[in-house]
Amino acid sequence: MSFSRVAAVTGANKGIGLAIVRNLALQYPSSTLNNGPLLIYLTARDRSRGEEAIKTLQNDAQLKSAKALAADGGLATIEYHGLDISKPQSITDFASFLKQKHPDGIDIVVNNAGIAMTGFDINVVRQTLQTNYHGTLLSTLSLLPLLRPHARLINISSTVGHLSTKYSPTLISRFQSSRSVADITTLMNDFTSAVERGTEKEEGWPSAAYAVSKSGVTGMTRAVAWEERERGRGVLVNCCCPGYVDTEMTRGRGVRSVDEGARTPVLLALGGIGDVTGEFWKDERVVEW
Ligand code: NDP
Repeated sequence: MSFSRVAAVTGANKGIGLAIVRNLALQYPSSTLNNGPLLIYLTARDRSRGEEAIKTLQNDAQLKSAKALAADGGLATIEYHGLDISKPQSITDFASFLKQKHPDGIDIVVNNAGIAMTGFDINVVRQTLQTNYHGTLLSTLSLLPLLRPHARLINISSTVGHLSTKYSPTLISRFQSSRSVADITTLMNDFTSAVERGTEKEEGWPSAAYAVSKSGVTGMTRAVAWEERERGRGVLVNCCCPGYVDTEMTRGRGVRSVDEGARTPVLLALGGIGDVTGEFWKDERVVEW
């Protein structure tokens, strides 16, 4: 079967990622992007969890009644592909696979995979940054060149990475004046060094690995978008907060459903957002960082 559009979602075996895949399949037919069959790669770091998620979607009552999946006469086909964003080789392998399989390019990438560990020490900081910042960055840089003109790339960030309140004025101004990915990576490395020295508080950082990693995601998304805009391909690169969503990550405390959490990411993937790029979104709106 040949596909007119191709999408990939990371960390999609559960939670918001799975809901993004589901809502892409539901909303694609009525979106302006629709020009024929859509293939969505539901990626996950564990094959059995990924394949189980595909089965869940194949039996999903709403997808069935909307005749969203190709098996029911609809437009969307969902396939599993392995991807562990904490392992650079896994990202490179997925990018090579996509390049070989879809030489004309792909249309949507949602970098959703992320972790929130409990506690705070240098190991938590290293692991959190490795997945949430460096993994999302490498996935972004590896998949961006595969995007067709006018394609969309979305990184799932968080309001807890918003610059208000957490950082010293010096650090806020360093984040805000960062113009390149290298500037943001330097900030992430400076945070790690400060935690190694045990001086992060004195140096103006919060003792919060997840929050800093998500500030990194937002800062890096802006920098990548600005660099991409110079290429003039009309590719839109944005990031967003899904809201406080009831998933395993929030351990029963989240107040939104996963479908509500998927709303802004899916808008950024399929919706009419003009030529807005390099912005942080929440509740389907641009929010100043
Ligand atoms: P979940 O913990 O429910 O799901 C996280 C997903 O990411 C899982 O599929 C998990 O896979 C995957 N994942 C974790 N590490 C990796 C990795 N190294 N490689 C590939 N996949 C990985 O979390 P949510 O659905 O709540 O979160 C999704 C995104 O939304 C995250 O980026 C999170 O930070 C962000 N977010 C969530 C909020 C919320 O309120 N829930 C609020 C703001 C942002 P596995 O099952 O194998 O662990």
